[in-house]
Amino acid sequence: MSSLPLVFDAPKRGLPPSHLADLSADDRRAAVVALGEKPFRANQLSRHYFARLTVDPADMTDIPAASRERLVAEMMPPLFTVVRAMSCDDGETVKTLLRAHDGTLIESVLMRYPDRATLCISSQAGCGMACPFCATGQGGLTRNLSTAEIVDQVRMGAVAMREGATGAPGRLSNIVFMGMGEPLANYRRVIDAVHRICDPAPDGLGISQRSVTVSTVGLVPAIRKLTEEGLQVRLAVSLHTPDDELRDTLVPVNNRWKVAEVLEAARGYADRTGRRVSIEYALIRDVNDQPWRADLLGKLLRRHLGQFAHVNVIPLNPTPGSKWDASPKPVEREFVRRVNAQGVACTVRDTRGQEIAAACGQLAAEG
Ligand code: SAH
Repeated sequence: MSSLPLVFDAPKRGLPPSHLADLSADDRRAAVVALGEKPFRANQLSRHYFARLTVDPADMTDIPAASRERLVAEMMPPLFTVVRAMSCDDGETVKTLLRAHDGTLIESVLMRYPDRATLCISSQAGCGMACPFCATGQGGLTRNLSTAEIVDQVRMGAVAMREGATGAPGRLSNIVFMGMGEPLANYRRVIDAVHRICDPAPDGLGISQRSVTVSTVGLVPAIRKLTEEGLQVRLAVSLHTPDDELRDTLVPVNNRWKVAEVLEAARGYADRTGRRVSIEYALIRDVNDQPWRADLLGKLLRRHLGQFAHVNVIPLNPTPGSKWDASPKPVEREFVRRVNAQGVACTVRDTRGQEIAAACGQLAAEG
């Protein structure tokens, strides 16, 4: 899409060497052939990576030992080392700090619930969107993650679930692109990663598209492009206020694409997919929590999205040096009540991971 601004074309600087999980099934076969191996070796490797979740050549006994080491070295170069894992919420939330090949640090967060297990993954190291209430946004953008770096977070999360990292062994069921970064500013790699995450094994990790959420600050051309992909992923829009005047400061990209344009693009996505759009709203005391803003939000969403909106109120999580707080509970309750009164679904998101700085907006990847 030639009209996309430069932010979609960030340089390849720092990206890791090419990896199996970067490639489509056809490209995986071509890569294996280029290494002088039979094409079916690509399927074997894919089965190990996507179905058995292993990158250890010792597990790959169906591939002759002589080829194995080389195929793994060429097709599955190590992407991350685990720097540390921290847990809280009785062990049901685990934040993992990962170091990439070039020293870049990123974080992912695994959250176990009674009925599902959700992994919150990063799409960039840091973030260029500069939202003032978000620790990631305050640190700036380091670089895009490669497709394989995004997919490998999910593979590692699935292994952690299988091994019982959050309690009894279980299955990773949901993925949210709500870790570090703006997924739609790393567009092609994120879309490719969605395919690898959702394609059935052995071509992908086999997680349902409907269980994957892509969250954006509201990059309108990219939302429109996503609408044309024919995916069934859930779209989340970080709105945080219904009025342009305040949103220009809370979500600086609003200076480029206004609230009404963002909601129209979201409506287009809802119409195409038939899926409700999540509207994220970090509730900040005396900043965006007034009753009149709740009324305005409800009216605006009813008009633009009707039944297709679901507001997630996120009590503001503390970030270092921030002057802002979460709203008091009675203010939060009144806010939710008013949005509901406009006929718009609105619930409060839990604040998992706060004490290990793993909650929304707290990821800063400090080594
Ligand atoms: N860049 C994308 C993906 C990040 S998702 C996006 O903004 O949508 C992370 C979510 O947490 C976003 O809705 C973000 O606005 C919200 N958030 C950021 N800082 C927060 C904080 N301090 N407290 C609560 N939510 C926060």
